[in-house]
Amino acid sequence: MIVVLIGPGGVGKGTIARRLVERDARLYLSRSWTTRPVRPSEHGDEYVFVDRERFAQAIAADEFLEWAQFHGNLYGTPAPPPLPGRDLLLEIDVQGAIQVRRRDPQSVVILVEAPSTSELEGRLRRRGDDDEHVASRLASAPGELAAGRAIADAVVVNDDVERVAGEILSILDGVRREPRPPAA
Ligand code: 5GP
Repeated sequence: MIVVLIGPGGVGKGTIARRLVERDARLYLSRSWTTRPVRPSEHGDEYVFVDRERFAQAIAADEFLEWAQFHGNLYGTPAPPPLPGRDLLLEIDVQGAIQVRRRDPQSVVILVEAPSTSELEGRLRRRGDDDEHVASRLASAPGELAAGRAIADAVVVNDDVERVAGEILSILDGVRREPRPPAA
């Protein structure tokens, strides 16, 4: 099973994804590639940070499950290793989720929303984004949410990491018990 977490930047998907893999050993969290610079608040292991040339080589060699441009930077999911008995967890943007869904109609897409716009803004600022980045990410959030709602199997609100992780795990348990019928 492929599980895809989507939602506006700053909504807390990364923290939720890390909590999910801590709580459910079946989940394997993919590490994406990006051409975005490392943020001051990051440690350098959040992504495989590469330049555009290296990213373009990987596209040409068909090394990505999906990739997309987001706010001027490229992001991509490397083709996963074989994962017998495990589920692949992706934390990506909505354009990427649309590509994954096209490749695997059985994939489970979960949209994470913020409790409020002011909460989202606070989170973006706390992680060190400058004013321009905060403004452009907030401006694109409604479009991302609308596109996300159109493909999501479930929508959850990140009011508390532990609670929302529990909610997602029970959604996944439900899907594991009763996989969706193949698309017609
Ligand atoms: P950030 O720069 O805030 O880390 O990420 C920006 C956006 O890119 C977020 O919505 C994040 O989920 C998304 N993203 C991260 N990795 C990937 C990826 O591999 N593919 C795609 N399509 N989006 C990604």
